[in-house]
Amino acid sequence: QAVFQFDIRALLEQVGAGKESLSFMKRRIRRMAAQWASAARRLDDKLRNHWREQKRILVHVGFLTEESGDVFSPKVLKGGPLGEMVQWADILTALHVLGHNLKISVSLKELHGSLGVPPGRGSCPLTGPLPFDLIYTDYHGLQQMKQHMGLSLRKHKCHIRVIDTFGTEPAYNHEEYATRHGYRTNWGYWNLRGQQYMTMFPHTPDNSFMGFVAEELNETERLNIQRNKVNNMAVVYGKEASMWKGKEKFLDILNRYMEIHGTVYYETQRPPEVPAFVKNHGLLPQQELQQLLRKAKLFIGFGFPYEGPAPLEAIANGCIFLQPKFIPPHSSLNHDFFRGKPTSRKVSSQHPYAEQYIGRPHVITIDFNNSEEFDAAIREIMRINVEPYLPYEYTCEGMLERVHAYIQNQDFCSPEAPFLPVNSSWLSSPPSPFVLLPNSSILTWASNASSCPSWPPLSALRLLASQEGQSCVMACQSAGLICEPALYRFINIKEAFSALDLQCDGVESEMNHLFPAFSAEHAECSLQQDPLLFSCAGSSAKHQRLCPCRDYRNGQVALCRDCL
Ligand code: UDP
Repeated sequence: QAVFQFDIRALLEQVGAGKESLSFMKRRIRRMAAQWASAARRLDDKLRNHWREQKRILVHVGFLTEESGDVFSPKVLKGGPLGEMVQWADILTALHVLGHNLKISVSLKELHGSLGVPPGRGSCPLTGPLPFDLIYTDYHGLQQMKQHMGLSLRKHKCHIRVIDTFGTEPAYNHEEYATRHGYRTNWGYWNLRGQQYMTMFPHTPDNSFMGFVAEELNETERLNIQRNKVNNMAVVYGKEASMWKGKEKFLDILNRYMEIHGTVYYETQRPPEVPAFVKNHGLLPQQELQQLLRKAKLFIGFGFPYEGPAPLEAIANGCIFLQPKFIPPHSSLNHDFFRGKPTSRKVSSQHPYAEQYIGRPHVITIDFNNSEEFDAAIREIMRINVEPYLPYEYTCEGMLERVHAYIQNQDFCSPEAPFLPVNSSWLSSPPSPFVLLPNSSILTWASNASSCPSWPPLSALRLLASQEGQSCVMACQSAGLICEPALYRFINIKEAFSALDLQCDGVESEMNHLFPAFSAEHAECSLQQDPLLFSCAGSSAKHQRLCPCRDYRNGQVALCRDCL
């Protein structure tokens, strides 16, 4: 039985020292400790009747190892990416607070020690059982584990979770399919189940949403913030000088109305990209950045970095986040940053989560090339009042709840039996496993049709057909639902087509990440042959895809209503 831990001292000792990145993470863990503890108390009350199994967990942070070049640690004090460090600090804290048995590794030596593989022996199969129930790592760590565990990695890979900021879609993850169909990248082709990849934002439902946390405010802090907001104070999102390059036009307009602050790293002189009228504080410790955000009215992004934690922190501190809409959207097809990343996702703005999940009045997303719109947005921002806002899924309690649900319910080790809607009583009078809810075009699974164990439970399933050219991500979203890849196996049956009134002249089965799908032109119904290719992402002008959608909890999109 796992018992909530309210004291973080043991965790701090385990994190170790000697690297700037580790010090950053420890400072964060210490600063947020009280918040985690009170969240744990609330969740403990909520989960009183749940048995929580204590797991043995290895966390191997591959990108921090010397062997992968550790490019991050030297940049921690120079404005380099800190988002990853924020996320790892929060993952470690969540696992610790949930009461699991944790081992942390940031070097190959520690990895070998933990896995029981003797150092210096090159590729060495792990002969005994894996001494962990779960291993959290990243793409670097996965590569290292492959090198040092050899073939035995394959045997144990169902225990692995890969922390993967931008996500990996099934078509890129499937080695053979990726190679044959042009989805090969530097990162994908590990043949994991899609939900073993865990992202920073809930942008790719094929993967699990891990996330991180932002600071919460108590009532006094909320009041103080509202009292002390400076209506004409703006902070620019971008701690590296290069993020300011070519933005003079916007800065000039902004400067007409507001006092502009920056937190751009510099060594001795002001970086030339940062105009003299900007008050540059240099890179600030996280705590001081929070103080600055508490006073500022506007947090403004100029397009880079993509999808970081800072906009959520700004919104949580009562800022309005103004950001550029990307027209056309950025993707691996048209932007260097995403090129080679195992995703086809079209990124509609600098921070799509802020745009789509939060929106106005906290987030304003506009075309920055339209100077009038830009000008008008700034004037509007100075006029309106907003309250600090933090979505539940980014609070400590929200993250603990989600990670708890994953740990206790996600199982990628049992073989995923293909679902056959046949049992003896059905043979005489086969019922449709789907029923049409009154006043709804969405089909739902007849609740007594199957006792097949599943998480999320089958009761959450809502079957939809996408329009031609539409992905299941979009189809579910437009019905106010979310695509749930774990439920694909229940709809990969020919009954699903007839339930949706799609008449099949023929039924085939093929390896194609768009299947199951219907082609109206040939009245052809296509089923998926390889469960690894079940994918919410992907669309084709010729196909209507079958989509397993589900409901979700308010503020916690990773979990369906009956998922806890
Ligand atoms: N940050 C900081 N000092 C600063 C600017 C940012 O500590 O002067 C922190 C910020 O609190 C956030 C983290 O850096 O949690 C990551 O920020 P960002 O959104 O820029 O993402 P990144 O590109 O670093 O992943």
